[in-house]
Parts: sequence; C-alpha cells; structure tokens
Amino acid sequence: MSQGTLFIVSAPSGAGKTSLVRELIESLDGIQVSVSHTTRAKREGEVDGVNYHFTHVADFEAMIERGEFFEYAKVFDNYYGTSRRAAQTVLDAGQDVILEIDWQGAQQVREQIPSAVSIFILPPSRSELERRLSNRGTDEHAVIARRMRDAVSEMSHFDEYDYLVINDDFTTALQALQSLVISRRLTREAMQARHAPLLDALLSQAPSVE
Ligand code: GDP
Ligand code: ADP
Ligand code: 5GP
Repeated sequence: MSQGTLFIVSAPSGAGKTSLVRELIESLDGIQVSVSHTTRAKREGEVDGVNYHFTHVADFEAMIERGEFFEYAKVFDNYYGTSRRAAQTVLDAGQDVILEIDWQGAQQVREQIPSAVSIFILPPSRSELERRLSNRGTDEHAVIARRMRDAVSEMSHFDEYDYLVINDDFTTALQALQSLVISRRLTREAMQARHAPLLDALLSQAPSVE
C-alpha cells in the first residue's frame, strides 16, 4: 500500500484554517484530518472526538511521559498534540493526512518526516483577522486579545513553510489548497507508486491484442 502525504497546515487563530480544511476534505477523496488532543476548554458546538480529543492536563502529561505524541506543544497556555496513532492509522491506509498544528509542532513533524508538505495560511490584514475572531463568537474578549497578540509571533514563522496561502476570498483560498493536494498526488513518485500495474502494462514488450 502506498503511503499518503502528510500536509501541515498552520495559521494564526482566526485566519480560517479550520473552515478551509473542513471544506477541503469534503471536496476531495482520500484525505483526512488528524484529530488532535487538547487541554483547552470545549467551545460551544464542538464535539469530543470530532474537533479534538478533549483531555485533562494530567492525562495529557501522562501521554507525554509514555511517548504517545508524534508532536505536541503549548499554545495559548494549553497543550495541543497529535498522537502517533491518530496520524499513523490514516497514513497506513494510503490516505493523505492534514495536521492542523502550530509552528512548534510543524518543526517537530519536519524533523521526523522531511517529505511532509507545509502550508501557512495568512489573513488578508490584521484588522480582518480581528474581525473574524470576534465574529466567530466562540471566544471571550480577553481570549481574542491574547490570540491577536500571539498572531504576530505565529506569523513570524511563515518562512519555514513550503507554501503560503492568503485567505482573502474563501473560494480562491480553497482552490489553492485543492491545487496543492492534487499536484502532490501527480508527482512521478506518487504516480509510480499508485499506478505500477499500468506502467508495467504500458511498457511491456508483449504485443498488444488488437
Ligand atoms: P483556532 O485555531 O482559533 O480554531 O483555535 P484552537 O484553540 O482550536 O487552536 C489553537 C492553536 O493550536 C492553533 O494555532 C492550532 O494550529 C494549534 N493546534 C491545534 N492542534 C494542534 C496539535 O495537535 N499540535 C500542535 N502543535 N498545535 C495544535
Ligand atoms: P481558525 O481555525 O484559523 O482559527 P476559523 O476557520 O475558525 O479559523 O475561521 C475564523 C472565522 O473566520 C470563522 O467565523 C470563519 O467562518 C471566518 N472565515 C474564514 N475564512 C473566511 C473568509 N475567506 N472570509 C470571511 N470569513 C472567513
Ligand atoms: P459565521 O460564523 O457567522 O458562519 O461566519 C462568520 C463570517 O465568516 C461571516 O462573515 C461569513 O461570511 C464568513 N464565512 C464563513 N464561512 C465562509 C465561507 O465558506 N466563505 C466565505 N467567503 N465566508 C465565510
């Protein structure tokens, strides 16, 4: 079974990565998003096991001790992490996997899987980022202020990524993400792994039956 590609998607909070990734996996087959563990409180509407595995700090720290994380980091005073199991299960099935993780996690993933493709999503302006965080209506004013403060330090890592996507018009940004996934699937290495029987048949010296 050929291995899928690991895509890393990072962005400052509110840039639209969750909305874009949700639409991306609905629009393409063979790609899934890895469900992270987090110690932050559940937002209204979020479902345990779907948006995140919501975890108590002590349990998260026990998982760290047991080496169960592929990567983890502290973001806005909460732990966030990708379990080895979450990522590996999907990759082994030959599916592409998206990790929606911060820059610290992205660095840890690149060290382990150099072939991972990383994408950074930028908002069209600071004021629009703030507007989206407020409009989303999921966070307290103090939480929004904290996330705006941290946005600049998150964005300062843009130059560690392979691709940059500006999420101004949503559809345009979605098309950019789709193009990145599709073009990766068309690389010679990926095509050779997926279409070995076709290539064998096309190149065989046996006369074709007419
Ligand atoms: P949102 O990004 O505004 O929806 O807020 P969240 O609280 O869901 O996520 C906050 C930050 O944590 C984002 O920058 C995510 O990229 C990051 N994050 C989420 N899951 C993970 C993870 O599994 N590992 C790491 N390292 N970061 C994560
Ligand atoms: P993130 O996961 O990066 O924190 P979200 O996907 O939660 O961001 O998006 C933040 C808010 O911005 C949501 O209310 C979302 O509907 C909105 N949003 C996302 N993309 C756009 C866009 N291109 N134009 C306008 N609003 C957007
Ligand atoms: P809401 O949380 O109210 O659904 O959306 C908040 C803001 O994000 C609104 O301004 C809404 O237009 C924008 N938004 C949410 N989803 C999309 C989308 O799929 N496309 C675009 N262009 N904007 C979106």
